[in-house]
Amino acid sequence: MKFQEVLGQKSLCAAFPASLKSGHVAHAQLFAGKSGYGSLALALAVAQYLLCSNQGDDDSCGECPACRKVIKGVHPDLHFVYPVVKKKDSAPVSDDYLQQWREIVTSPYFSLDEWIEKMGGEENAQPMIYAAESANIIKKLSLKPFEADCRVVIIWLPERMNEECANKLLKILEEPYPGTYFILVSEQPERLLTTIRSRTQMVIIPMLEKGVIAHELGRRYGLSAERGRWLERIAAGDMVKAIELLNDESNRAKNREMFISLMRLCWTRDMVPVNRWVNELADAGRERQKRFLTYASEMLRENFMRNLNKDEIVYMTPEEEQFSVRFAPYVNENNIVALFAAMEQAAIEIGRNGNAKIILTDLCIKVMQNIRPTT
Ligand SMILES: [Zn+2]
Repeated sequence: MKFQEVLGQKSLCAAFPASLKSGHVAHAQLFAGKSGYGSLALALAVAQYLLCSNQGDDDSCGECPACRKVIKGVHPDLHFVYPVVKKKDSAPVSDDYLQQWREIVTSPYFSLDEWIEKMGGEENAQPMIYAAESANIIKKLSLKPFEADCRVVIIWLPERMNEECANKLLKILEEPYPGTYFILVSEQPERLLTTIRSRTQMVIIPMLEKGVIAHELGRRYGLSAERGRWLERIAAGDMVKAIELLNDESNRAKNREMFISLMRLCWTRDMVPVNRWVNELADAGRERQKRFLTYASEMLRENFMRNLNKDEIVYMTPEEEQFSVRFAPYVNENNIVALFAAMEQAAIEIGRNGNAKIILTDLCIKVMQNIRPTT
């Protein structure tokens, strides 16, 4: 990544090249700031500048073979260390997940959760940097740089090192490894050993400048300036957070469409489109199905409250309100309990890995029976 491709952070991007070129940069740096501020992106830009064989005064060239390798994450003198999830029996090291890392790091604005998902870890997994990692670093550093005059070790989220690894890293930072730059990219530097902090030069990565996120959301997703500014304000200068908020919105919109069509189809009792609806959601995977069922229960609750004229505790978006105007009267004390139970039952069975098509068909029949009883 070139400095000019880093989102915002203009003053840091302007200052780095000159100080890197003049050698006025400590060999161990600690970038402190959220991933969404671009701390990892900056680390990559610094690495690329250092390794570029055709560096300009203010940026790497982005085109030489060295730059291309950095961009793909395959430069032999650029090493990465990052937290990983435990495999069955052995303690893993970063290299076990190198392929996944190379893919995710091409767009270096992501959260730890996204990284866990990329590794195929459980939702509540606690990735760590294990002790075996330090031996791995030492082994790599015992060799001469392969292609460049220097090499760079980027350690993402060093606060997730276990104690043994942290102590070994400390020894590595104390050793002089000529031509070797360490960049520790930390979201919680206060959790690092003070001895590690004292051996590094801290660079505070501030939140993104006003307007940067709104502009990027417009460029990437075609968002209007107004929506972009709204998300930017809620995300407080954090690009990762802004993308999360946006994804939540689009999930919600998808769920809303599915909910509205389920209710309409069940009302008309036309089995062919109902079947199509079932197949669509059955193909979408269990996590999507569970999220939909949670959403549907929420919407039933909101519409029931609306029907009871409890508007002060109704929480709906304008689009949901629009549907609710006509739909709310059909959610009442005669069917709310049965409808809730149907959603809950489906969620339980999906959670038990039951056959999604059978479960969702059963759900549709129950909704039909309750939303417009025949007798
Ligand atoms: Zn280059």
